[in-house]
Amino acid sequence: MNPKVLIVDDINDNIFLMEITLEDLPISTDSATSGEEAISLAQKNEYVAILMDINMPGMDGFECIRRIREIPGHQLTPVIFITAAGNMDDYVERGYAVGAIDYLNKPIEERVICSKVSILISLFTERKNSEEALRKVQQLQRQHEQLLNFTADGIVGLDTENIVTFANTAACTLLTATLKSIIGQPFKNFIDPLLDEQQWEQSDFVQTFKEGQCNQSDNTFFWRNQQAKFPVQYTQSSIVEDDIFQGGVVIFQDISERKEIENQLVNLAKFDQLTGLSNRTLYWEFLEKVTAYSKRTNDNLCVMFIDLDHFKEINDSLGHDAGDLLLVQATERLKSVLRNADLISRLGGDEFAVVIQQLTNINDIATVAQKIIDVIAEPFFLFDKESYIGASIGIASFPEHGMDATTLTKAADTAMYHAKQHGRNTYKFFDNDMHMRIQSHLEVSNDLRIAIKQQDLEPYYQPIIKISDQKLNGFEALVRWNHKEKGLVSPGLFIPVAEESGLIEDIGNLMLLLAGKQANDWFCNETDMTIAINVAAKQLKQKDFSQQILRLLDNQHISPHYIKLELTESALMDDPNDVIRQLHELRDVGITIAIDDFGTGYSSLSYLKKFPIDFLKIDQSFVREIGEDKNDEAIINAIIQMAHSLGLKVIAEGVETKEQLGFLKNLDCDYAQGYLFSKPVPWREAEQFLPMR
Ligand code: C2E
Ligand code: CA
Ligand code: CA
Repeated sequence: MNPKVLIVDDINDNIFLMEITLEDLPISTDSATSGEEAISLAQKNEYVAILMDINMPGMDGFECIRRIREIPGHQLTPVIFITAAGNMDDYVERGYAVGAIDYLNKPIEERVICSKVSILISLFTERKNSEEALRKVQQLQRQHEQLLNFTADGIVGLDTENIVTFANTAACTLLTATLKSIIGQPFKNFIDPLLDEQQWEQSDFVQTFKEGQCNQSDNTFFWRNQQAKFPVQYTQSSIVEDDIFQGGVVIFQDISERKEIENQLVNLAKFDQLTGLSNRTLYWEFLEKVTAYSKRTNDNLCVMFIDLDHFKEINDSLGHDAGDLLLVQATERLKSVLRNADLISRLGGDEFAVVIQQLTNINDIATVAQKIIDVIAEPFFLFDKESYIGASIGIASFPEHGMDATTLTKAADTAMYHAKQHGRNTYKFFDNDMHMRIQSHLEVSNDLRIAIKQQDLEPYYQPIIKISDQKLNGFEALVRWNHKEKGLVSPGLFIPVAEESGLIEDIGNLMLLLAGKQANDWFCNETDMTIAINVAAKQLKQKDFSQQILRLLDNQHISPHYIKLELTESALMDDPNDVIRQLHELRDVGITIAIDDFGTGYSSLSYLKKFPIDFLKIDQSFVREIGEDKNDEAIINAIIQMAHSLGLKVIAEGVETKEQLGFLKNLDCDYAQGYLFSKPVPWREAEQFLPMR
């Protein structure tokens, strides 16, 4: 569209004349016949020039222009006044005062006005073009700025002296400064205000720019307001033109959040979430460090293993929430008797470890251990319930019991195990005997594993006699281990090991299989003959114990009527309801149940009433005292009477003499077993006792 010229004249003919005059120019024209009309046109349009008649009725040309000048965009619009004649000087004065650029007298010469307007057109076009160019540049600049301000990364421009020359919005926000306050500041204030000039000059940051290099750092800090640090990751790039360093750009991010998460992860990985104590990982890390340190300095050092006694029972009976609460309270108590410098860790479950350094006197450790036992023995209040637990503590010290983390830990663990064996609620220092015992324990369990595989285990049979007619009632099967080097190993030596290493189940199954087949072979239709098999407490703990037995008997076609199982009282007490359920299943198919070693455990006959059982075996320790200890004799009497009243038959074991047998017969004891009749013997010898062979 062509640029426009505004013609203002109260006489239409003049306007028309002017339009004709300007006809050949590349413009279009607007016209107005009054000042008011001109103003309203000027409000809507931009003009190359305004050709203004001065003398008009109402508003004259000067006043009109004065008002047009107030319209935005018209401050500089060229105005040429057209006048008929008259007071020229006065007009010129007033005309220039409102910004006229020229005066022309009527009649207008076409050549003059056209050339003047032509010049104005080219000026106008030129101005338009440069305005457009400027607008484009400004737009581009705005876009760049927006982009810079839009990014969450802080961006800072620096001059050759590391003075800030530019900062985007994010940079201001991250550094908590206004743009005004940042510009012109040395960037050192943000990197590290504490550095002195020399340190600053030698810093990596300055050196990188000096060498015109780029650098990245993701584990450092920037400063806000010269007082608080925050973690950042930044990139610095030099601006180099013609091999000359012109300044630098730093782009950075606040990584507080990431650091926080990283810390949380470290926390999760190294600290116990329940108690806040360090966990196993941190325990090992720490112990490895301090043992290495102690090796250099010869400082002493102690590791204490603490295991809570009866924690499991509380956890099982009061629930996990109570268990958790107890652990938290126990932790507080441990802290109360230990020093801050001692590292307390929760290794898992109810097991804690303490690393104690810089002991002035190694004997102090016993005092500390006793203090721990005492505070743990105090009542715990768990959701209004008063509960009691104890602590068993094992202690190992550097360098006597070990020079490295692994050995020390093993030693403390072993000592703790011994404390538990010695009635709990005590502490034990590690000693080398323990080591030997552990060692042999390990050897035995390894050997035993092989022995089970190779079937080096064999049942021996000891006859059980009915006292009233002295006839055979059956046998107890007792395991024997034919060791290649050691010969016959008795069960007292390896059954405890087997129970601990989990091998007892294999032994139990093997015995049931071998003795059961033997019974099948021996007894044929002799229905009241049985073979008694010993069952370890551990076996009974399996939920499918009874099913396992029934399956095995079924698979091997062994008659359940030939099988008697000997259980100890303590095995029954572990989970009475489940045991009762399993015993019923066994008895339903004809298996009989005997309580072994009666008198040595809980010995509560009234309690035993709840269990589906058939026999009591009086422990040999009582039988041995017959004729020696009136007290034990009285106990035997009581046991027999009460058992009978409950409908149970009584077997006396360990019967070695005729006197013992006579005594038992007088008390109406039902069966006897012992060396008086025979030691446990291999099946070939046992066979001699069978009546029909
Ligand atoms: P227990 O069940 O009380 O077995 C009786 C133990 O007393 C047997 O020792 C037997 O040889 C011994 N004995 C029998 N009569 C007399 C006697 O008149 N005088 C003396 N002094 N001792 C007598 P053994 O065979 O060494 O077994 C020891 C323990 O090992 C058993 O005690 C039992 O608890 C366990 N045991 C043996 N075999 C097995 C088995 O196959 N499985 C399991 N779980 N435990 C077994
Ligand atoms: Ca037994
Ligand atoms: Ca026994």
